[in-house]
Amino acid sequence: MSGDDELHFLVDSANADYSDAENIDDDFFAAWDAEAEADAVALAEDSFDEERFEAARECLQGGKPLFLIQRSHQHSSIIPAALNHINALYGSSLNVGVVAPVPRMRPAGQSGIPTFFRNTAIAPIQIADPECFARVDSFGTVLADQRDGKPYAGSSTSGKWPYFNRSLPSGWTEEWVKEVVRTQRDLGATVLLTPGLWMDPADRTGSLRTLRDCVGWARDEARDHENLAVNVTIPYTWLTTARLRDALLADLLDMDEDIFYVRVRWPLLAQPYGQLASPEIMDGYVELSSVCEENDKFLILPNTALTGWVALAWGAGGFSTGIGTGERSFADTKVIKIKRTTPRPAPTNRTFRRSLLHVVDVATDSLLSALPGQSDCDCEFCRAQTPGLWDKAKSGAHYLLKTAEVVAEASDHARGRRAGTRAIAREARNFRDAASSVVPLNNANDPKHLDLWLDRLK
Ligand SMILES: [Zn+2]
Repeated sequence: MSGDDELHFLVDSANADYSDAENIDDDFFAAWDAEAEADAVALAEDSFDEERFEAARECLQGGKPLFLIQRSHQHSSIIPAALNHINALYGSSLNVGVVAPVPRMRPAGQSGIPTFFRNTAIAPIQIADPECFARVDSFGTVLADQRDGKPYAGSSTSGKWPYFNRSLPSGWTEEWVKEVVRTQRDLGATVLLTPGLWMDPADRTGSLRTLRDCVGWARDEARDHENLAVNVTIPYTWLTTARLRDALLADLLDMDEDIFYVRVRWPLLAQPYGQLASPEIMDGYVELSSVCEENDKFLILPNTALTGWVALAWGAGGFSTGIGTGERSFADTKVIKIKRTTPRPAPTNRTFRRSLLHVVDVATDSLLSALPGQSDCDCEFCRAQTPGLWDKAKSGAHYLLKTAEVVAEASDHARGRRAGTRAIAREARNFRDAASSVVPLNNANDPKHLDLWLDRLK
């Protein structure tokens, strides 16, 4: 098959078929849509005064956990409403923040980053993630290969971000790193990130040297009142290989920096909207999180969803998640191709089941709701679903709300966050064990991660 005869779907799980792909190809084509170029010049921004950075800094002290929502390409217009709900319901138990993926967004206009930040101004933490790992001279070529040659940042935004697109024939330079930091500052971010270039495990020493150089140059650019986080982007082997992990942790601890933003590339997931279910990678997160906590480093785990939630119990300070699968994980992807003429079954609608700590299809969710002691979710967004229809935006907002709920509940537990996390996970496992004889929980509906979590929460 080739050319116009086929449709391509991007998935990040091994067992997805194209009926799932309908649900998870969040930005594959959409990035190429001719989104109307907003002609309005961005409104003059308020000066990014020191108070905003001070408010953000208070969220990075490690008292309350940090819950970050990464802006998705689709359904993002519901994020401000979800954020307001979360802040109203759980603001006493957690801090909220948002992340804008810079090279995949616009510098101005209705869908631009300043507009997104204005609409989410209730969040003290606003991050403009430079995603420099996706540059073609970093990990961008591999990312494109996993997307059938399509670049990570589509043509609708390419050219708008010189720091991301311009070539650096003599390698990473101080001036370029400073440009990366200035770009985030100009967008109004309250936490500035270092570039976050891909760290190739085959060149351990060189990767670590580049990381140190970037941190030093970014620190020179950052002003005294600004918050700077060390942005680390690594394949999972840095967590699973002792030699790599030890070298990385030693270097992180050696830095005179307190905030770390560590994104780990996961292998292709086993199932759509799946949680990480690799014992080895989880063990790596346990060590990374606990070492950071013991050394008073505030660790943020972007794109980890509930894996990030459980890592809060291991010592992490915060995590990000979002509406689409690409916001919930940073995993390898593959492309599914089907003929245009192939009949496509209806997409599988899925929802987050709070009592199971897992995403299941809506038919299974209904069966679970009918079990003793269970019910339909009565959150604002689920109540607003129209019977017979399925609104993915509302489903996504429900997921964000319920994830924030478990963050808050674990955080508020009388015997601390770890005991709280354990209690919630144990309850979910007990429910799974009781329910599965009545409502089969197979394949994508099976919460395989629960036992792995509980083994690491003893
Ligand atoms: Zn709900």
